Amino acid sequence: MFETLGNKLQDILERLRRESTLTETQVKAAMREIRMALLEADVNFGVARDFVARVSEKAVGTEVLGSLTAGQQVVKVVHDELIETLGGTAHQPTLKNEGNVFFMVGLQGAGKTTSSGKLAQFYKSKGRRVLLVAADTQRPAAREQLRTLGQQVGVPVLEVANGETPAQTRQRVQDFLKTDFRDLVIVDTAGRLQIDEALMDQLADLSGAMQPTETLLVVDAMTGQEALNVAKAFDERVSLSGLIITKMDGDARGGAALSARFQTGKPIYFAGTSEKLNGLEPFYPDRVAGRILG
Ligand code: GDP
Repeated sequence: MFETLGNKLQDILERLRRESTLTETQVKAAMREIRMALLEADVNFGVARDFVARVSEKAVGTEVLGSLTAGQQVVKVVHDELIETLGGTAHQPTLKNEGNVFFMVGLQGAGKTTSSGKLAQFYKSKGRRVLLVAADTQRPAAREQLRTLGQQVGVPVLEVANGETPAQTRQRVQDFLKTDFRDLVIVDTAGRLQIDEALMDQLADLSGAMQPTETLLVVDAMTGQEALNVAKAFDERVSLSGLIITKMDGDARGGAALSARFQTGKPIYFAGTSEKLNGLEPFYPDRVAGRILG
């Protein structure tokens, strides 16, 4: 991911870096190229426009232009703004000593179930006692997938029964926790190929019953512009706290990942980097910016 965007930006910045002094016209031309490169990578139009406006303001409105290291300074401004766009500092889900409930939501195929398994492994390796809850009341196959992942990670999986109500699920989780202490419960919910009201009603009911401490939207990096609508719809009903962007190892152009924080106002907590259980990494905006800009 980010290959084409990275190559283009590196090329533009390399040319700027070589200039000792810069005119406003040169900076403006470079900014137009950067904006183009962002749009071609499927970055949201408003995000690309604001990004370039902020860089231009910082580059043109200061002493940068007249200085002998103008090119290098503009490159630094671009780098810093890219980090800001990606979320600034790294954010992680909040964890208390006990009573943590992560509620996983997203469209079918986004990587929700896989990410639930990956999170179980990630937090287990940090000494957490994890319980996975397979809460897709309609698709037995989804529950079976989580059961298999739970076995691989070595954490218990509690499966809802077909047609079980949210209150019944909550009760069963509480009963389980009485006999087997767990400080982190990860609830994998049902997904649909598209947002629909029935799904949202169901999710809102289950969320009300489970009282999550974190609600994580799992977004496929390939989703592109549609990611914003998906995030908005879920946020309205179940109030998201953060995002997991999956398939960052794929050939997505990167626009969704780059726009997500800015468009949704929610931090990206993790990036999915493979199909395997260890393919989940905390999202560090500075490292990702570094990777894009080389
Ligand atoms: P769900 O319907 O949202 O629960 O999606 P799944 O967890 O079943 O994932 C759908 C497909 O995406 C599966 O084939 C996963 O192996 C794959 N997948 C999930 N996350 C990643 C990732 O970060 N990288 C890659 N390459 N594949 C992923």
